[in-house]
Amino acid sequence: MALFKCNSCNQEYEDYYPPDDICTKCNKGHIRIITFQEENTMTAIKPTIRIMTPEDTRTTQLMNAGSVIELEGTTIPISAGRSDQVHVFSESTVLYVLSTNIKLGYMGLEVFDAASGEEYNTIFINYEWELEEYLGKEWEQMEPVTIIRILTNFLY
Ligand SMILES: [Zn+2]
Repeated sequence: MALFKCNSCNQEYEDYYPPDDICTKCNKGHIRIITFQEENTMTAIKPTIRIMTPEDTRTTQLMNAGSVIELEGTTIPISAGRSDQVHVFSESTVLYVLSTNIKLGYMGLEVFDAASGEEYNTIFINYEWELEEYLGKEWEQMEPVTIIRILTNFLY
């Protein structure tokens, strides 16, 4: 469950979508996503992230050399570009990879099986107006964990 708060009168709302609506209590503030109330069971991890070698490109059968994550012997291709900021989290056997590029206004979330590297699901948001639709106007200030929690709602 997400917690939402008016940025003027601080009235709290639960699971209020879409964000950025006018507060129904004070009629002047905007409703922002604050946090998720569930216990956070995601752990930030810092695996090696590197550009694919020609051999990686062959074995993954991708046309363009992208980036890969090295995780305990498993090489996982990800879609992040060189200038993206990559946040990696693990939660039980699931790996979440959030690539963000604030300058270019896009974001991608990829969800993998941590052991096999198999991709479960993925979502890409390519435009700033789309980011605002999903996350609200203050998406740039949001914690990666919060962003991942919100975006996973749209995955399954
Ligand atoms: Zn209000």
